[in-house]
Amino acid sequence: MNKAVILLSGGLDSSTTLYYARSKGHACHCLIFDYGQRHKKEILSAKAVARAAHCAFELVKIALPWKGSALLDKKVNIPKHRKLDATNIPATYVPARNIIFLSFAASYAEALGARHIFIGANAVDYSGYPDCRPAFIHAYQSMLAQGLKTGVEGKTITVETPLIHLTKAHIVRLALKLGVPVEKTWSCYQGGRTPCGVCDSCRLREKGFQEANHEDRGRTSS
Ligand SMILES: [Zn+2]
Repeated sequence: MNKAVILLSGGLDSSTTLYYARSKGHACHCLIFDYGQRHKKEILSAKAVARAAHCAFELVKIALPWKGSALLDKKVNIPKHRKLDATNIPATYVPARNIIFLSFAASYAEALGARHIFIGANAVDYSGYPDCRPAFIHAYQSMLAQGLKTGVEGKTITVETPLIHLTKAHIVRLALKLGVPVEKTWSCYQGGRTPCGVCDSCRLREKGFQEANHEDRGRTSS
């Protein structure tokens, strides 16, 4: 079976990406990070989604003690009610996060003999993070071709971004079509009992469900 490594955060996008890869016949190996984020809720969600999909997962603990992000530092406020079309990069950006995550995924994939890495990056309804954009993914792909043993042997590992050009509403519809357990996913940057409703991540998710004309079963789950 065609093995793939899936970066799984426990949010709607990465969970949909997992189910998408699975629907394409891949044997999915999920990679979940405990990287010092503000709350453990998303890690619990990621594990629950991997189990629901009957996929293996690795939970890797890494440290970014220098912080530099509202997601890593409780002293920095998470922006509320931010304009979703704002062009500045918000305080929730984590320095080099996807470079770090993809590098772990590349190592895992190469050791595992997987030829694909799936990441739920999205460059439409997103917060403007540079490491979610197609230009970054293309550049990273070139780097893998040059920097991996499999790359120089002509068996390049590809970085798959099935959601990158989709709107949040499209992602919601895809998630529902694929049977993603939406109620197990967690998108909020805060770790409260219920989603805060005012952070970028909550508002983008809400916009997606509204535009898809569907109730969010994850909205009230805890
Ligand atoms: Zn929130």
